[in-house]
Amino acid sequence: MHDWMIVGAGFAGSVLAERLASQRDETVLVIDKRDHIGGNAYDYTDAAGILVHRYGPHIFHTNAAAIVDYLSQFTAWRPYEHRVLAQVDGKLLPIPINLDTVNRLYNLDLDPEGMEAFLAARREKVEDIQTSEDVVVSTVGRDLYEKFFQGYTRKQWGLDPSELSRIVTARIPTRTNRDDRYFTDTFQQMPADGYTAMFARMLDHPNITVELGRTWDESSDRPLARRIIFTGPIDEYFQQCFGPLPYRSLRFVHETRDVEWAQPVGTVNFPQTEDYTRITEFKHLTGQVHPKTSLVYEYPTAEGDPYYPIPRPENQALYKLYRKQAESLSDVWFVGRLGSYQYLNMDQVVGQALATFDRINATRVPTAFVPAAE
Ligand code: FAD
Ligand code: UDP
Repeated sequence: MHDWMIVGAGFAGSVLAERLASQRDETVLVIDKRDHIGGNAYDYTDAAGILVHRYGPHIFHTNAAAIVDYLSQFTAWRPYEHRVLAQVDGKLLPIPINLDTVNRLYNLDLDPEGMEAFLAARREKVEDIQTSEDVVVSTVGRDLYEKFFQGYTRKQWGLDPSELSRIVTARIPTRTNRDDRYFTDTFQQMPADGYTAMFARMLDHPNITVELGRTWDESSDRPLARRIIFTGPIDEYFQQCFGPLPYRSLRFVHETRDVEWAQPVGTVNFPQTEDYTRITEFKHLTGQVHPKTSLVYEYPTAEGDPYYPIPRPENQALYKLYRKQAESLSDVWFVGRLGSYQYLNMDQVVGQALATFDRINATRVPTAFVPAAE
């Protein structure tokens, strides 16, 4: 019998496997239904020899030095600041909206104060900011909202921004300066050899066994380990007993072109046209030098792998029912973006996994504890 079985070899599962194996000297069986480690951050070299991310662009950014220190045990880093252009009214304009976005869109020559006054005249007063529409119209007004946010959000989520919690569009700031970086975190670097290489180093420990292409099966798997960490969808663990939690999915279409560069920045967003939301060109992210270039197009879908929890109050209420059920299990931990039904970035998942490890350490296993299957 293993001390632990961890379902999912993404950030949540790999961090916990590494900590339990190396810090508590416990045995860990990690399973994943996919044929690779790394979860959604998985990268690989494609047929052309270019490093690409199978599940869409993954850019590492954080303000937490402790998380960088932790991951730095398993990877070196390469600086990368992500930049995104949105194709709006036939122009390629910086997103997040900044001074250049407004000047070029409206053929103006505003300075930061002028932009502040421009926005102040257009902002809508919203007493209680609840939705993703509220956030944007109360910051930049309706025209910029419709051009940059409404169409993209409807496409990405299959919902109008007025139907989504504020946290979704609140991810995107507005700037009156000319900073055109997508993120402003203090640490913005990519794993130097890619994510998969980093995960392989995390999982390379004599106490860790990894079995890929294996889906969790409660009746046959539960007896194999004293305790379980589940990083798949929490509703799936409980056989959707309260009804399915909604997720949004994507179809990724990868393409290699016989040109050195296809677009000026890492990602181009399409809020007004096309069925896909964005195109990402990987060499911008990885710094790889190659005569060809590989891109990924993201097509949002209702069906498919669960990539995004959908932040809206009714879904949060349903999640709480599962959460309550989870709290009644003393030997099963639910972690990660799907295990905790939260729209988390990679660094936040690492932080959550490290905090879970601390909680595990603080939990005294009762001496009379006998696993059900023994
Ligand atoms: P996952 O990576 O989803 O890992 C869970 C694993 O569990 C999966 O491998 C799955 O196969 C496995 N699993 C599930 N159910 C079962 C089962 N029943 N049996 C066996 N195995 C199972 N974050 C950033 O910080 N920066 C970015 O730029 C960024 N870009 C993103 C772009 C896209 C398109 C998406 C979808 C996400 C992006 N993220 C980004 C978020 C990032 O992917 C997540 O924060 C992180 O990968 C979550 O790790 P996790 O371990 O919680 O989940
Ligand atoms: N968004 C938008 N237009 C854009 C970029 C983002 O409307 O050009 C909205 C959209 O709702 C999106 C959310 O902001 O889902 C968060 O964007 P982010 O780039 O953080 O999404 P992710 O990379 O997580 O898919």
